Amino acid sequence: MRQDFYDRVAATLEDIREAGLEKIERQITSAQGPVIEVDHKGQRKKVLNFCANNYLGLADNPEIVAAAKATMDEYGFGMASVRFICGTTDLHRRVEKEIADYLGYEDSILFAACFDANGGVFEPLLEADDAIISDALNHASIIDGVRLCKAKRYRFANSDMSDLRRQLEKADLDGARTKLIVTDGVFSMDGYIAKLDEICAIADEYGALVMVDDCHATGFMGPHGEGAPAHCGVAARVDILTGTLGKALGGGMGGYICASKEVVHLLRNRARPYLFSNALPPALLGATLKTLELVRDGGHLREQLFRNAGRFRAQMTEAGFDLLPGEHPIIPIMIYDAKKAGAMAAALMDEGVYVTAFSFPVVPREKARIRTQMCAAHSDEQVDQAVEAFIKVGKSVGVI
Ligand SMILES: *Cc1c(COP(=O)(O)O)cnc(C)c1O
Repeated sequence: MRQDFYDRVAATLEDIREAGLEKIERQITSAQGPVIEVDHKGQRKKVLNFCANNYLGLADNPEIVAAAKATMDEYGFGMASVRFICGTTDLHRRVEKEIADYLGYEDSILFAACFDANGGVFEPLLEADDAIISDALNHASIIDGVRLCKAKRYRFANSDMSDLRRQLEKADLDGARTKLIVTDGVFSMDGYIAKLDEICAIADEYGALVMVDDCHATGFMGPHGEGAPAHCGVAARVDILTGTLGKALGGGMGGYICASKEVVHLLRNRARPYLFSNALPPALLGATLKTLELVRDGGHLREQLFRNAGRFRAQMTEAGFDLLPGEHPIIPIMIYDAKKAGAMAAALMDEGVYVTAFSFPVVPREKARIRTQMCAAHSDEQVDQAVEAFIKVGKSVGVI
């Protein structure tokens, strides 16, 4: 009987391998940054990194590192407690207030990760007679969080506003008490921004609440980096905003939910990943306070990020590559054929550019792509270098 289990595990792994879906983790032997050192064919190699969520280039920022060290000296290493027993320091509350203030909410609540924030947000707030109307391309953590909640589930086709209306009407017919529309602020495989202005207008029409998971926007989209809602001019209308400290905001670890004071207080009392999981460590919080200071004051970082994106986009388009349109620093280069995309990413690594190929089932069949992500810490020269490598490899693979 036990052997059956181990045989099944081996067979599943074999299936994954055969389908070409096995994930092999490459080892980085330096700090995360615009240039990293990786283990490549048995040797250490310096490469330009175009696949991190390090949008503002803060992952190895010396001021943030210094803040983490100083905080650790004062507060020690770990909390060894959940928040409500003896795991809340003044730093936890300062970070929560700073995040809420930056993003324009009454309060916020920290989690170990945004995966936990999304996993824990629905169940305490909604019950069986409520409805969640969720975009089909929402992040896995939203899908899991919705599953853990008793509310009725409705799914609308990605960014399809007439389908959103249809699902809201269905929810009304089913007698929904509260309706909550949930969407990612930015869909990470395409770099497409959710139509938050339209979503909020429709929500008003149907008396629905709106929740946005803004992991791929907070810190750099919108006039001061407040994220996709601000970018779309509806910052104040979004009821619940979730996000991560693991991307633009330093790239460390941690998630949060912004909402009204009472919603946050209810989550503190009822959200299971908050109640039953350890408090974030002080060093991370000290670093986050510094990060928020740098991000709020980070107009020059956002400028450089979008300058890099514009430069890369323009040169790649001119070279004949097929890019998905958009303004987000996620820039997917469409290759369509999965094998070609994989071969290109491998060849680019040989040329000193680290990018990732995505194919089915992460993206639709025949829509394989190389997803590049821009970083404020790249120089013009480094962007040009990446484009040159793309042109060389693109020609050899026959993409351009
Ligand atoms: C990255 C991401 C998450 C998970 O965030 P973590 O803090 O790494 O758990 C959740 N939602 C979206 C849309 C993301 O892009």
